[in-house]
Amino acid sequence: MTDNPHHNLTPALTPDTVALIGIPFDDFSSFMRGPAKAPSVIRRTLHDGASNLYAENGINLATHPLFRDLGDLALAGGEGDIAAIESAIGRLAAQKVRILSVGGDHAITYPVIKALSNAYANLTILHLDAHPDLYDSFNGSRFSHACPFARIMETGRVKRLVQVGVRGLNDEQRRQVEKFGVTCIEMKDYRSENPIALEGPLYLSVDMDVLDPAYAPGVSHHEPGGMSTREVLRLIQSIQCPMVGADIVEVNPDRDVNGVTAAAAAKFLKEIAGMMLAQGC
Ligand code: MN
Ligand code: MN
Repeated sequence: MTDNPHHNLTPALTPDTVALIGIPFDDFSSFMRGPAKAPSVIRRTLHDGASNLYAENGINLATHPLFRDLGDLALAGGEGDIAAIESAIGRLAAQKVRILSVGGDHAITYPVIKALSNAYANLTILHLDAHPDLYDSFNGSRFSHACPFARIMETGRVKRLVQVGVRGLNDEQRRQVEKFGVTCIEMKDYRSENPIALEGPLYLSVDMDVLDPAYAPGVSHHEPGGMSTREVLRLIQSIQCPMVGADIVEVNPDRDVNGVTAAAAAKFLKEIAGMMLAQGC
């Protein structure tokens, strides 16, 4: 485990490794910057000694041979980073390494999934978010953090997109949900006792603003009426199909209060990694 080995090289890794990789990128945040600082903050929280590295299923990330922290991607900034992220993730995916990335804003999910969709046919995406992130373009950018799932669905390489926790859809977003055939389970309709049928290979994308701001104040867009931390954990722990990749995005350390959002992100990181390591690939 190391804090800042800035490299985009691909070490030789055992297939099935769950690779933690920080993506410090927020160039395309629309409202405020900050999520680029999140990978180092979340990593520090993970190792600050306040809690151990056990997932609730008994997997210990501190000792598991298939869990590796690869540090943060070295990025130059700007639109070229989209291609840089895609190629770095693509090299790992080609080795059948499973990716657990911490952003960064949600713009990183497009190049990550684009790379994974080359390695895995028929990906299903489970996307937890207060927002559908399906705009065709936002503030003049097609790579905005408000657009990644439009770009992903346009590739035609993803089998299904399931969104959970969305609230306050406007007319354009509703049209995009229809256009791309998205299964959008809005927060007002979500009932945690109803399981969501999912087929693997699965990619899980967690925007921290899916949580109610009471649980996660450290995000750029406060959207009240969201999930509790435990509801998200139950959803993660209910996943039955193989997970080949996941991301945790939109932590904004500048807005956090006493590190509670970073702690929630570190908790999700442990639980997602624990699920991936328990299920194999
Ligand atoms: Mn998002
Ligand atoms: Mn969001």
